[in-house]
Amino acid sequence: MVSMTTLSHGLSWVDLRFQDRDNVIAAALVESAGGVAIIDPGPTSCLEALELGLQARGIRWPDVRHLLLTHIHLDHAGASGTIVRAHPHIAVVVHQRGATHLVDPTKLLVSATRLYGDHMDRLWGEFAPVPADRLVVLAGGDRVQAGGRVFDVAYTPGHASHHVSYFDASSGVAFVGDTAGVAVNGGYVLPPTPPPDVDLELWAQSIDRILAWSPSTLFLTHFGPAMNVPSHCAELIEHLQQAANYVRASLSEPGDDDERGARFEEWLRQQLRQHMTDVRVQEYIVAAGFRYQWMGLARYWRKKLAV
Ligand SMILES: [Zn+2]
Repeated sequence: MVSMTTLSHGLSWVDLRFQDRDNVIAAALVESAGGVAIIDPGPTSCLEALELGLQARGIRWPDVRHLLLTHIHLDHAGASGTIVRAHPHIAVVVHQRGATHLVDPTKLLVSATRLYGDHMDRLWGEFAPVPADRLVVLAGGDRVQAGGRVFDVAYTPGHASHHVSYFDASSGVAFVGDTAGVAVNGGYVLPPTPPPDVDLELWAQSIDRILAWSPSTLFLTHFGPAMNVPSHCAELIEHLQQAANYVRASLSEPGDDDERGARFEEWLRQQLRQHMTDVRVQEYIVAAGFRYQWMGLARYWRKKLAV
């Protein structure tokens, strides 16, 4: 079954049913008579669900002109190379720091395999390279024309060093990838903090940059629209600080990193459980990987404090 939701005129999103679950990964579709753009097409393991979503809107691949990537993590951009190989007319829009890894994903895959091990293929499927001549490379501060509208681009690192966000002034929607966190149905806002790029200071600046657009809606990959933008962002920063403080304190606790990570996971699960059902907590876990949350923040502190 395809789950399509309309955001505003010409803007919709499809639940990619990641690992047969609802509410984990959403891809946004931007439609116009002049062509279609997909914002974060998701991993190759979800390509069939994406295609069902396109069909449900009456979109064919020849109509799709652009993939706009917020960043190149596998859950957002994994299918890009596979899509472009089959449909070479499609251009892929990405920040300059992510571009080289799309052309040659070797390093990216080595670092992802360190996290996901034997589960790489089951979780993500193929990560095919994108030919360099299919890329539109961004620096931040650019404007991109796609899907019949003009998007303002902001460089928004913090979650990933090559993260950008896209703002469509005509609808007031900002497509923010993971910079504004994970929030299912406008609920609890969880900052996803996987290794290796997490940076609290840059993240806070990126949130300010997004707020400067005064968007009416944030579109989150995990999962869907968030409407109360200022309070959403305040909650993100608050929870980021809480998690960071917890991880910082955990570094001087007894035990090894596995034990520290496990304790963090349990702490975070309890935080979320106060706000939602177990089923919903599970959606957050699949989207954000709680153990990786600890690893990303521990890496940030160890670099910063040199401990
Ligand atoms: Zn993500």
